[in-house]
Amino acid sequence: MTRTDSDSWDLASSVGATATMVAAQRALATAGPDKLIDDPFAAPLVRAVGIDFFTRLVDGEIDFPEGGEFDPVRMGHGMGVRTRFFDEHFLSAVRSGIRQVVILASGLDSRAYRLPWPAGTVVYEVDLPEVIDFKTATLRDLGAEPTAQRRTVAIDLRDDWPAALRAAGFDPQEPTVWSAEGLLIYLQPDAQDALFDTIGSLSAPGSRVACDYIGDTSVFASPAWREHAEKMAALGLAVEIGDLIYHGERNHIVEYLTAAGWAVTGRRVRELYTDCGLDYGDDELAVTFDDMTYLSAVLAGPAA
Ligand code: SAM
Repeated sequence: MTRTDSDSWDLASSVGATATMVAAQRALATAGPDKLIDDPFAAPLVRAVGIDFFTRLVDGEIDFPEGGEFDPVRMGHGMGVRTRFFDEHFLSAVRSGIRQVVILASGLDSRAYRLPWPAGTVVYEVDLPEVIDFKTATLRDLGAEPTAQRRTVAIDLRDDWPAALRAAGFDPQEPTVWSAEGLLIYLQPDAQDALFDTIGSLSAPGSRVACDYIGDTSVFASPAWREHAEKMAALGLAVEIGDLIYHGERNHIVEYLTAAGWAVTGRRVRELYTDCGLDYGDDELAVTFDDMTYLSAVLAGPAA
């Protein structure tokens, strides 16, 4: 599928289906005695979207070949360590006193319903209208209650989202903790720069941002990924990330944010596995993706 400047989707199509995919991985990371995370909403949300492959995945109904890359426990690990990284990003920010939270490209992220936010925390979620509306309605039908004041901003990040965010009550004078999780590769390189420019312009000193990035998207054309993707397609997976992302050169995020006054820390995926007591592995697929980096940054100025 070719991306266009004004393309759109729901949670069962195009880029939207990747939100369902990562929610399915969170459901796997939530399962079993050694679960890495506890996201009780992941599996019900995936079932509600109704993409057959992901529903069967979370229900343990796919007949995977034994072990290795097809071990469902291992499939959950990547998203489990990622979820723990972003959970800690938010929780450490609120421990420091920040009470304004913006989750960009929120997809089926359920943090506004499952993290122990302090009283007075406002969580803004930004994503396309069909994505926001579906999650809001599904969680309401499940009887879920937000654990913070949740405000939705249903808009495309290629449009004037800062105006929409302000209209929802966002205060740029207040320090903010932001996330752009699983988003950047779906933006054109100049849109990525614009996103961080805008985050900077809306951030009071002491604000924080976290994102994940992969330095070189050509990994999605690598033999290791192609082989894996073909095997998954044979099992019924119809989402091919390599077709949905924007390839080519883009500014290096660490350099970009550092130049804009952010103090940046980057941690490689292998380190996060170690933090969780897991072995990242050394097979070809693991090595292909091992420059995946999780970045957190604080805007210079007085801490919140
Ligand atoms: N952050 C969520 C998570 O980690 O579960 C969702 C990640 S999913 C891989 C990518 C998300 O980015 C989708 O929810 C999609 O709708 C959103 N997204 C991508 N481009 C966007 C845009 N231009 N405007 C708004 N949302 C966008």
